[in-house]
Amino acid sequence: MPEPVDDECRCEEMREHLYEFLDSEMSGSDLARLRRHIEECPTCREATDVETHIRMLLRRSCREVAPSTLRLRVITQIGVLRAGGHLR
Ligand SMILES: [Zn+2]
Repeated sequence: MPEPVDDECRCEEMREHLYEFLDSEMSGSDLARLRRHIEECPTCREATDVETHIRMLLRRSCREVAPSTLRLRVITQIGVLRAGGHLR
């Protein structure tokens, strides 16, 4: 079976580049191609929606958790640095 020789974006490619697509870490033409595919392909559109939703939830929960965790980490690090005498 020969490979189809069109530049149509396929679901495989979409799945492979889903994260780059969502992070907009792709070249403009690839981004446009995948965007076009999403418009025509309900499966990939759904996958993108789900991933976007998950990211939104993660971001929200991170914002709630981050300050105390980050503070703790910074405090611990300062303690380690002082103990090791690296702050001279
Ligand atoms: Zn698709």
